[in-house]
Amino acid sequence: MKKGSNLYAITKFKCPRCHEGDLFPSATFSFERSFDMHKRCSHCDANFFPEPGFYYGAMFISYIFSGFFCIFFLVITMLALKWNAAVAIGSLLLIMAIYFVWLFRFARAIWLSINLKYDPSMSKKD
Ligand SMILES: [Zn+2]
Repeated sequence: MKKGSNLYAITKFKCPRCHEGDLFPSATFSFERSFDMHKRCSHCDANFFPEPGFYYGAMFISYIFSGFFCIFFLVITMLALKWNAAVAIGSLLLIMAIYFVWLFRFARAIWLSINLKYDPSMSKKD
């Protein structure tokens, strides 16, 4: 995956405008300051909080992703792999707990890249 594609910015949690600055101050699986987010891009100064309640939309993205993932996971484990319901649901809860921060950040990165377009001239700026 290379710079210039929205998928790069989303999966690397980079600023959607310049694809250089980080969205979050800490690593996803460090579980430190998990829900902190930079106010502005350190590289191009894009505003990551353009208005109050901006990230309500990200909650719906997170809800849709987790809903489909849960259905998909339970169908695969219980119907295809014939896992016991308690084992399948227990595994699902464990996976959801581990990926909770990642999903929170992923949804915000998607929401921000929907609302902020890539500007190649911003990535060259020093
Ligand atoms: Zn930026």
